[in-house]
Amino acid sequence: MARKLLLENAHIEGINTYDVYRKNGGYRSVEKALKSMSPEDVVEEVKKSGLRGRGGAGFPTGMKWSFIAKPDGVPRHLLCNADESEPGTFKDRYLMEKIPHLLIEGMIVSSFALGANHSYIYIRGEYMYVLRILEKAIAEAYANGWLGKNILGSGFDLDLSVSPGAGAYICGEETALIESLEGKRGNPRMKPPFPAVKGLWQRPTVVNNVETIAAVVPIVNEGGDEYAKIGIGRSTGTKLISAGGNINRPGVYEIEMNITVEEFIYSDTYCGGIKNGKKLKACVPGGSSVPILPHYLVCKTAAGQDRLMTYESLADGGFATGSMLGSGGFIVYDEDQCIVRNTWNFTRFYHHESCGQCSPCREGTGWMEKVLHRLEYGHGKMEDIDLLWDIQRKIEGNTICPLGDAAAWPVAAAIRHFREEFEWHVNEPKACMERNYGLVAEKTFEPATA
Ligand code: SF4
Repeated sequence: MARKLLLENAHIEGINTYDVYRKNGGYRSVEKALKSMSPEDVVEEVKKSGLRGRGGAGFPTGMKWSFIAKPDGVPRHLLCNADESEPGTFKDRYLMEKIPHLLIEGMIVSSFALGANHSYIYIRGEYMYVLRILEKAIAEAYANGWLGKNILGSGFDLDLSVSPGAGAYICGEETALIESLEGKRGNPRMKPPFPAVKGLWQRPTVVNNVETIAAVVPIVNEGGDEYAKIGIGRSTGTKLISAGGNINRPGVYEIEMNITVEEFIYSDTYCGGIKNGKKLKACVPGGSSVPILPHYLVCKTAAGQDRLMTYESLADGGFATGSMLGSGGFIVYDEDQCIVRNTWNFTRFYHHESCGQCSPCREGTGWMEKVLHRLEYGHGKMEDIDLLWDIQRKIEGNTICPLGDAAAWPVAAAIRHFREEFEWHVNEPKACMERNYGLVAEKTFEPATA
Protein backbone atom coordinates (compact mmCIF):
# COMPACT_ATOMS: atom_id res chain seq x y z
CA MET A 1 0.00 0.00 0.00
CA ALA A 2 1.49 3.31 -1.08
CA ARG A 3 2.18 5.69 1.76
CA LYS A 4 0.50 9.05 1.81
CA LEU A 5 2.07 11.86 3.79
CA LEU A 6 0.00 14.81 2.62
CA LEU A 7 -3.38 13.50 1.52
CA GLU A 8 -3.74 10.69 4.06
CA ASN A 9 -6.59 12.48 5.83
CA ALA A 10 -8.03 14.27 2.81
CA HIS A 11 -11.09 12.01 2.76
CA ILE A 12 -12.11 12.79 6.36
CA GLU A 13 -15.34 14.74 6.64
CA GLY A 14 -14.67 18.26 7.90
CA ILE A 15 -10.85 18.01 7.72
CA ASN A 16 -10.85 21.57 6.37
CA THR A 17 -11.98 22.79 9.80
CA TYR A 18 -9.63 23.38 12.69
CA ASP A 19 -11.35 21.03 15.16
CA VAL A 20 -11.31 18.00 12.87
CA TYR A 21 -7.78 18.73 11.65
CA ARG A 22 -6.48 19.04 15.21
CA LYS A 23 -8.29 15.86 16.34
CA ASN A 24 -6.50 14.00 13.57
CA GLY A 25 -3.02 15.01 14.67
CA GLY A 26 -2.86 18.47 13.16
CA TYR A 27 -0.28 21.00 14.42
CA ARG A 28 1.89 18.29 16.03
CA SER A 29 4.87 19.47 14.02
CA VAL A 30 4.49 23.01 15.40
CA GLU A 31 4.45 21.67 18.96
CA LYS A 32 7.50 19.54 18.27
CA ALA A 33 9.48 22.27 16.52
CA LEU A 34 8.69 25.12 18.90
CA LYS A 35 9.06 23.08 22.09
CA SER A 36 12.01 20.83 21.35
CA MET A 37 13.88 22.02 18.27
CA SER A 38 15.92 25.03 17.23
CA PRO A 39 15.40 26.67 13.83
CA GLU A 40 18.70 25.10 12.73
CA ASP A 41 17.39 21.65 13.75
CA VAL A 42 14.38 22.09 11.46
CA VAL A 43 16.60 23.18 8.56
CA GLU A 44 18.82 20.16 9.20
CA GLU A 45 15.84 17.75 9.08
CA VAL A 46 14.69 19.28 5.80
CA LYS A 47 18.20 18.87 4.38
CA LYS A 48 18.30 15.22 5.52
CA SER A 49 14.91 14.57 3.95
CA GLY A 50 16.22 15.39 0.47
CA LEU A 51 13.02 17.36 -0.19
CA ARG A 52 13.15 19.15 -3.53
CA GLY A 53 10.96 22.05 -4.61
CA ARG A 54 7.61 20.78 -5.80
CA GLY A 55 6.76 23.80 -7.94
CA GLY A 56 8.73 22.75 -11.00
CA ALA A 57 12.45 23.37 -10.70
CA GLY A 58 13.14 20.61 -8.15
CA PHE A 59 15.83 22.58 -6.31
CA PRO A 60 16.79 21.08 -2.89
CA THR A 61 14.69 22.91 -0.30
CA GLY A 62 17.18 22.64 2.58
CA MET A 63 19.90 24.13 0.41
CA LYS A 64 17.61 26.96 -0.69
CA TRP A 65 16.85 27.70 2.94
CA SER A 66 20.53 27.76 3.86
CA PHE A 67 21.19 30.56 1.32
CA ILE A 68 19.21 33.02 3.40
CA ALA A 69 21.46 35.25 5.52
CA LYS A 70 21.76 34.60 9.25
CA PRO A 71 19.29 36.67 11.30
CA ASP A 72 20.81 40.11 11.87
CA GLY A 73 17.78 42.09 12.97
CA VAL A 74 16.57 42.70 9.39
CA PRO A 75 13.09 41.22 8.92
CA ARG A 76 12.94 38.24 6.58
CA HIS A 77 10.00 36.58 4.88
CA LEU A 78 8.69 33.24 3.75
CA LEU A 79 6.41 33.48 0.73
CA CYS A 80 4.25 30.58 -0.30
CA ASN A 81 3.84 30.41 -4.04
CA ALA A 82 0.22 29.38 -4.53
CA ASP A 83 0.05 30.99 -7.98
CA GLU A 84 -0.60 27.62 -9.57
CA SER A 85 -1.23 28.47 -13.22
CA GLU A 86 0.69 25.93 -15.29
CA PRO A 87 -1.75 24.32 -17.73
CA GLY A 88 -2.39 20.75 -16.61
CA THR A 89 -1.50 21.40 -12.96
CA PHE A 90 -4.10 21.56 -10.19
CA LYS A 91 -2.56 19.70 -7.25
CA ASP A 92 -1.97 22.75 -5.00
CA ARG A 93 -5.57 23.84 -5.42
CA TYR A 94 -6.72 20.41 -4.23
CA LEU A 95 -4.44 20.48 -1.21
CA MET A 96 -5.45 24.00 -0.15
CA GLU A 97 -9.12 23.29 -0.71
CA LYS A 98 -9.17 19.99 1.17
CA ILE A 99 -6.63 20.50 3.96
CA PRO A 100 -5.91 24.23 4.32
CA HIS A 101 -4.53 23.76 7.83
CA LEU A 102 -1.76 21.50 6.49
CA LEU A 103 -0.38 24.44 4.51
CA ILE A 104 -0.78 26.79 7.49
CA GLU A 105 1.01 24.27 9.74
CA GLY A 106 3.83 24.01 7.19
CA MET A 107 4.05 27.81 6.99
CA ILE A 108 4.43 28.09 10.77
CA VAL A 109 7.18 25.47 11.03
CA SER A 110 9.01 26.76 7.95
CA SER A 111 8.78 30.39 9.10
CA PHE A 112 10.19 29.31 12.48
CA ALA A 113 13.11 27.60 10.70
CA LEU A 114 13.82 30.69 8.61
CA GLY A 115 13.32 33.26 11.36
CA ALA A 116 10.44 34.91 9.50
CA ASN A 117 7.85 36.75 11.58
CA HIS A 118 5.52 37.80 8.78
CA SER A 119 4.86 35.30 6.02
CA TYR A 120 2.56 35.41 3.02
CA ILE A 121 0.59 33.03 0.86
CA TYR A 122 0.36 34.48 -2.66
CA ILE A 123 -2.54 32.77 -4.40
CA ARG A 124 -3.60 33.06 -8.01
CA GLY A 125 -6.53 35.37 -8.56
CA GLU A 126 -8.64 32.69 -10.22
CA TYR A 127 -8.55 30.68 -6.95
CA MET A 128 -10.65 33.27 -5.12
CA TYR A 129 -12.87 30.64 -3.51
CA VAL A 130 -9.76 28.86 -2.20
CA LEU A 131 -8.54 32.18 -0.81
CA ARG A 132 -11.74 32.34 1.23
CA ILE A 133 -11.08 28.82 2.55
CA LEU A 134 -7.55 29.84 3.54
CA GLU A 135 -8.71 33.06 5.18
CA LYS A 136 -11.16 31.11 7.32
CA ALA A 137 -8.50 28.55 8.29
CA ILE A 138 -5.98 31.31 9.13
CA ALA A 139 -8.57 32.99 11.37
CA GLU A 140 -9.09 29.64 13.14
CA ALA A 141 -5.33 29.25 13.59
CA TYR A 142 -5.11 32.73 15.15
CA ALA A 143 -8.07 32.01 17.41
CA ASN A 144 -6.43 28.83 18.68
CA GLY A 145 -3.02 30.37 19.36
CA TRP A 146 -1.06 28.91 16.43
CA LEU A 147 -0.47 32.33 14.89
CA GLY A 148 0.20 35.69 16.51
CA LYS A 149 2.47 36.61 19.42
CA ASN A 150 4.49 34.17 21.49
CA ILE A 151 3.13 30.98 19.91
CA LEU A 152 2.93 28.17 22.51
CA GLY A 153 4.93 30.38 24.90
CA SER A 154 8.01 29.87 22.74
CA GLY A 155 8.73 33.54 22.14
CA PHE A 156 8.20 33.00 18.40
CA ASP A 157 5.79 35.45 16.74
CA LEU A 158 4.23 34.91 13.35
CA ASP A 159 1.68 36.78 11.31
CA LEU A 160 0.35 35.06 8.20
CA SER A 161 -1.36 36.93 5.35
CA VAL A 162 -2.92 35.62 2.18
CA SER A 163 -2.83 37.80 -0.88
CA PRO A 164 -4.40 37.19 -4.32
CA GLY A 165 -2.77 37.86 -7.67
CA ALA A 166 -4.69 39.28 -10.60
CA GLY A 167 -4.54 36.35 -13.00
CA ALA A 168 -1.02 36.51 -14.45
CA TYR A 169 0.84 33.22 -14.99
CA ILE A 170 4.18 35.03 -14.79
CA CYS A 171 3.54 35.86 -11.12
CA GLY A 172 4.39 32.23 -10.39
CA GLU A 173 8.00 33.19 -11.13
CA GLU A 174 9.42 34.06 -7.72
CA THR A 175 10.68 37.58 -8.44
CA ALA A 176 7.52 38.50 -10.36
CA LEU A 177 5.56 37.20 -7.38
CA ILE A 178 7.58 39.49 -5.11
CA GLU A 179 6.99 42.48 -7.37
CA SER A 180 3.27 41.74 -7.41
CA LEU A 181 3.14 41.34 -3.64
CA GLU A 182 4.83 44.74 -3.33
CA GLY A 183 1.91 46.16 -5.30
CA LYS A 184 3.67 46.56 -8.63
CA ARG A 185 3.22 45.02 -12.07
CA GLY A 186 4.40 41.40 -11.89
CA ASN A 187 7.54 41.72 -14.01
CA PRO A 188 10.36 39.28 -13.20
CA ARG A 189 13.54 40.86 -11.83
CA MET A 190 17.03 40.32 -13.11
CA LYS A 191 18.98 37.90 -10.90
CA PRO A 192 21.30 38.35 -9.01
CA PRO A 193 20.53 39.55 -6.46
CA PHE A 194 18.50 36.48 -5.58
CA PRO A 195 15.51 36.73 -3.24
CA ALA A 196 17.50 35.08 -0.43
CA VAL A 197 19.59 38.26 -0.39
CA LYS A 198 17.14 40.92 -1.60
CA GLY A 199 13.57 39.74 -1.89
CA LEU A 200 10.34 41.22 -0.60
CA TRP A 201 10.99 44.91 0.15
CA GLN A 202 14.70 44.19 -0.38
CA ARG A 203 14.71 41.84 2.62
CA PRO A 204 15.98 38.23 2.70
CA THR A 205 13.15 36.08 1.36
CA VAL A 206 12.46 32.45 0.61
CA VAL A 207 9.76 31.51 -1.91
CA ASN A 208 8.46 27.94 -1.76
CA ASN A 209 5.62 26.12 -3.46
CA VAL A 210 2.48 25.01 -1.55
CA GLU A 211 3.32 21.30 -1.71
CA THR A 212 6.93 21.93 -0.65
CA ILE A 213 5.81 23.79 2.45
CA ALA A 214 3.17 21.18 3.29
CA ALA A 215 5.83 18.44 3.03
CA VAL A 216 7.79 20.05 5.88
CA VAL A 217 5.04 18.89 8.27
CA PRO A 218 5.64 15.11 7.87
CA ILE A 219 9.40 15.75 7.70
CA VAL A 220 9.36 17.38 11.14
CA ASN A 221 6.90 14.81 12.52
CA GLU A 222 8.70 11.71 11.25
CA GLY A 223 12.25 13.03 10.83
CA GLY A 224 14.19 13.78 7.67
CA ASP A 225 15.80 10.33 7.56
CA GLU A 226 12.43 8.56 7.59
CA TYR A 227 11.15 10.81 4.80
CA ALA A 228 14.26 10.09 2.74
CA LYS A 229 13.58 6.33 2.94
CA ILE A 230 10.61 6.83 0.62
CA GLY A 231 11.40 7.18 -3.05
CA ILE A 232 14.56 6.45 -4.94
CA GLY A 233 17.88 8.22 -5.45
CA ARG A 234 17.57 11.99 -5.21
CA SER A 235 13.80 11.77 -5.64
CA THR A 236 12.70 11.30 -2.05
CA GLY A 237 9.31 11.30 -0.38
CA THR A 238 5.94 11.52 -2.01
CA LYS A 239 4.74 13.74 -4.85
CA LEU A 240 1.34 15.07 -5.77
CA ILE A 241 0.50 14.52 -9.41
CA SER A 242 -2.46 16.07 -11.16
CA ALA A 243 -3.41 13.66 -13.90
CA GLY A 244 -5.52 14.71 -16.86
CA GLY A 245 -6.11 14.16 -20.55
CA ASN A 246 -7.41 10.95 -22.12
CA ILE A 247 -7.36 8.70 -19.06
CA ASN A 248 -10.07 6.86 -17.22
CA ARG A 249 -9.42 8.33 -13.77
CA PRO A 250 -8.28 11.96 -13.90
CA GLY A 251 -7.52 13.55 -10.55
CA VAL A 252 -4.87 14.33 -7.96
CA TYR A 253 -2.75 11.41 -6.74
CA GLU A 254 -0.07 11.21 -4.10
CA ILE A 255 2.61 8.80 -5.28
CA GLU A 256 5.75 7.45 -3.70
CA MET A 257 8.55 8.51 -6.00
CA ASN A 258 9.56 5.05 -7.09
CA ILE A 259 6.62 3.78 -9.12
CA THR A 260 6.90 3.34 -12.87
CA VAL A 261 5.17 5.59 -15.37
CA GLU A 262 3.49 2.47 -16.75
CA GLU A 263 1.97 1.69 -13.36
CA PHE A 264 0.84 5.29 -12.98
CA ILE A 265 -0.92 5.36 -16.35
CA TYR A 266 -2.39 1.86 -16.45
CA SER A 267 -3.02 0.86 -12.82
CA ASP A 268 -6.53 1.29 -11.44
CA THR A 269 -4.96 2.85 -8.34
CA TYR A 270 -4.03 5.84 -10.47
CA CYS A 271 -5.04 6.82 -14.03
CA GLY A 272 -6.75 3.52 -14.87
CA GLY A 273 -5.51 3.33 -18.47
CA ILE A 274 -6.34 5.22 -21.65
CA LYS A 275 -9.96 6.25 -22.10
CA ASN A 276 -12.19 4.27 -24.46
CA GLY A 277 -9.50 1.63 -24.99
CA LYS A 278 -7.51 3.91 -27.28
CA LYS A 279 -3.78 3.75 -27.77
CA LEU A 280 -1.33 6.02 -26.01
CA LYS A 281 0.10 8.63 -28.37
CA ALA A 282 2.12 10.93 -26.12
CA CYS A 283 2.49 12.32 -22.63
CA VAL A 284 3.47 15.64 -21.09
CA PRO A 285 4.60 14.50 -17.63
CA GLY A 286 5.18 17.80 -15.81
CA GLY A 287 2.90 20.59 -16.99
CA SER A 288 2.75 22.44 -20.30
CA SER A 289 6.34 23.75 -20.07
CA VAL A 290 8.08 20.41 -20.26
CA PRO A 291 8.95 18.48 -23.42
CA ILE A 292 6.31 16.09 -24.74
CA LEU A 293 7.25 12.40 -24.90
CA PRO A 294 6.10 10.20 -27.81
CA HIS A 295 4.46 6.90 -26.82
CA TYR A 296 7.64 4.84 -27.17
CA LEU A 297 9.47 7.07 -24.66
CA VAL A 298 6.69 7.39 -22.09
CA CYS A 299 7.05 4.12 -20.21
CA LYS A 300 10.63 3.29 -21.26
CA THR A 301 13.75 5.40 -21.50
CA ALA A 302 15.75 5.47 -24.74
CA ALA A 303 18.04 2.89 -23.13
CA GLY A 304 15.07 0.54 -22.62
CA GLN A 305 14.84 0.99 -18.82
CA ASP A 306 11.48 1.32 -17.12
CA ARG A 307 10.72 5.04 -16.83
CA LEU A 308 10.03 5.99 -13.19
CA MET A 309 7.98 8.84 -11.77
CA THR A 310 11.13 10.57 -10.49
CA TYR A 311 13.03 13.74 -11.29
CA GLU A 312 15.95 11.75 -12.72
CA SER A 313 14.14 9.06 -14.70
CA LEU A 314 11.71 11.44 -16.41
CA ALA A 315 14.68 13.59 -17.44
CA ASP A 316 16.73 10.59 -18.61
CA GLY A 317 18.23 11.28 -22.00
CA GLY A 318 18.03 15.05 -21.61
CA PHE A 319 15.58 16.82 -23.88
CA ALA A 320 16.49 14.60 -26.84
CA THR A 321 14.64 11.60 -25.39
CA GLY A 322 13.51 12.73 -21.94
CA SER A 323 11.37 15.34 -20.23
CA MET A 324 10.87 16.64 -16.68
CA LEU A 325 8.76 15.95 -13.60
CA GLY A 326 8.14 19.72 -13.55
CA SER A 327 5.05 20.82 -11.68
CA GLY A 328 3.48 17.36 -11.70
CA GLY A 329 0.84 18.21 -14.30
CA PHE A 330 0.62 14.84 -16.05
CA ILE A 331 -1.25 15.09 -19.39
CA VAL A 332 -1.95 11.95 -21.42
CA TYR A 333 -2.82 12.04 -25.14
CA ASP A 334 -4.57 9.26 -27.00
CA GLU A 335 -4.11 8.36 -30.66
CA ASP A 336 -6.76 10.85 -31.82
CA GLN A 337 -5.08 13.97 -30.45
CA CYS A 338 -3.34 16.48 -32.70
CA ILE A 339 0.15 17.46 -31.61
CA VAL A 340 0.23 20.56 -33.83
CA ARG A 341 -3.03 21.80 -32.37
CA ASN A 342 -1.82 21.08 -28.85
CA THR A 343 1.47 22.89 -29.46
CA TRP A 344 -0.35 25.88 -30.92
CA ASN A 345 -2.62 25.94 -27.88
CA PHE A 346 0.32 25.93 -25.43
CA THR A 347 2.17 28.57 -27.45
CA ARG A 348 -0.89 30.79 -27.55
CA PHE A 349 -0.93 30.61 -23.77
CA TYR A 350 2.74 31.59 -23.41
CA HIS A 351 2.36 34.43 -25.90
CA HIS A 352 -0.58 35.76 -23.93
CA GLU A 353 1.28 35.43 -20.62
CA SER A 354 4.64 36.91 -21.70
CA CYS A 355 5.26 40.05 -19.64
CA GLY A 356 6.99 41.63 -22.63
CA GLN A 357 10.27 42.67 -21.01
CA CYS A 358 12.55 40.58 -23.27
CA SER A 359 12.37 40.73 -27.05
CA PRO A 360 12.99 37.00 -27.68
CA CYS A 361 10.04 36.06 -25.47
CA ARG A 362 7.72 38.94 -26.34
CA GLU A 363 8.27 38.68 -30.11
CA GLY A 364 9.23 35.02 -30.40
CA THR A 365 6.17 33.62 -28.66
CA GLY A 366 4.00 35.74 -30.94
CA TRP A 367 5.81 34.58 -34.07
CA MET A 368 5.58 30.93 -33.03
CA GLU A 369 1.90 31.36 -32.31
CA LYS A 370 1.30 32.81 -35.79
CA VAL A 371 3.26 30.10 -37.56
CA LEU A 372 1.55 27.34 -35.60
CA HIS A 373 -1.82 28.95 -36.24
CA ARG A 374 -1.34 28.86 -40.00
CA LEU A 375 -0.04 25.28 -39.86
CA GLU A 376 -3.03 24.24 -37.81
CA TYR A 377 -5.52 25.98 -40.10
CA GLY A 378 -4.18 24.63 -43.34
CA HIS A 379 -2.08 27.51 -44.62
CA GLY A 380 1.34 26.27 -43.57
CA LYS A 381 4.39 25.81 -45.73
CA MET A 382 7.09 23.22 -45.34
CA GLU A 383 9.63 25.97 -44.45
CA ASP A 384 7.44 26.92 -41.50
CA ILE A 385 8.59 23.86 -39.61
CA ASP A 386 12.23 24.94 -39.82
CA LEU A 387 11.21 28.51 -39.08
CA LEU A 388 9.51 27.37 -35.89
CA TRP A 389 12.60 25.41 -34.92
CA ASP A 390 14.73 28.47 -35.52
CA ILE A 391 12.53 30.78 -33.46
CA GLN A 392 12.43 28.49 -30.43
CA ARG A 393 16.23 28.13 -30.55
CA LYS A 394 16.56 31.91 -30.39
CA ILE A 395 14.27 32.17 -27.37
CA GLU A 396 15.78 29.42 -25.21
CA GLY A 397 18.37 30.74 -22.77
CA ASN A 398 18.06 34.34 -23.95
CA THR A 399 15.49 35.72 -21.57
CA ILE A 400 15.28 37.17 -18.06
CA CYS A 401 13.05 34.48 -16.64
CA PRO A 402 12.22 30.85 -17.45
CA LEU A 403 8.97 31.65 -19.29
CA GLY A 404 10.99 31.96 -22.48
CA ASP A 405 12.39 28.44 -22.07
CA ALA A 406 8.97 27.18 -21.06
CA ALA A 407 7.57 28.45 -24.35
CA ALA A 408 10.45 27.10 -26.44
CA TRP A 409 10.74 23.55 -25.05
CA PRO A 410 7.25 22.27 -26.00
CA VAL A 411 7.72 23.50 -29.58
CA ALA A 412 11.17 21.93 -29.88
CA ALA A 413 10.00 18.58 -28.51
CA ALA A 414 6.89 18.52 -30.69
CA ILE A 415 8.94 19.07 -33.84
CA ARG A 416 11.65 16.64 -32.71
CA HIS A 417 9.24 13.78 -32.06
CA PHE A 418 6.28 14.56 -34.32
CA ARG A 419 7.79 16.21 -37.40
CA GLU A 420 5.79 13.91 -39.66
CA GLU A 421 2.57 15.25 -38.17
CA PHE A 422 3.67 18.83 -38.89
CA GLU A 423 4.45 17.79 -42.47
CA TRP A 424 1.05 16.12 -42.73
CA HIS A 425 -0.55 19.46 -41.83
CA VAL A 426 1.29 21.04 -44.76
CA ASN A 427 0.62 18.24 -47.23
CA GLU A 428 -2.93 17.33 -46.22
CA PRO A 429 -4.49 20.49 -44.75
CA LYS A 430 -8.07 19.48 -45.48
CA ALA A 431 -7.64 16.08 -43.89
CA CYS A 432 -6.18 17.74 -40.79
CA MET A 433 -9.06 20.19 -40.54
CA GLU A 434 -11.55 17.40 -40.94
CA ARG A 435 -9.87 15.37 -38.22
CA ASN A 436 -9.59 18.25 -35.77
CA TYR A 437 -12.76 20.18 -36.48
CA GLY A 438 -14.92 18.11 -38.79
CA LEU A 439 -14.58 20.91 -41.38
CA VAL A 440 -13.08 21.31 -44.79
CA ALA A 441 -10.50 24.06 -44.72
CA GLU A 442 -11.51 27.24 -46.41
CA LYS A 443 -8.79 29.72 -47.17
CA THR A 444 -10.59 32.69 -45.77
CA PHE A 445 -7.65 34.65 -44.44
CA GLU A 446 -4.26 35.78 -45.61
CA PRO A 447 -1.54 33.76 -43.90
CA ALA A 448 0.34 35.82 -41.34
CA THR A 449 4.04 36.30 -41.89
CA ALA A 450 6.60 35.80 -39.16
FE1 SF4 B 1 8.87 38.56 -19.35
FE2 SF4 B 1 9.08 36.53 -21.09
FE3 SF4 B 1 11.21 37.95 -20.38
FE4 SF4 B 1 10.07 36.32 -18.60
S1 SF4 B 1 11.06 35.68 -20.48
S2 SF4 B 1 10.80 38.39 -18.24
S3 SF4 B 1 7.91 36.56 -19.20
S4 SF4 B 1 9.41 38.70 -21.51
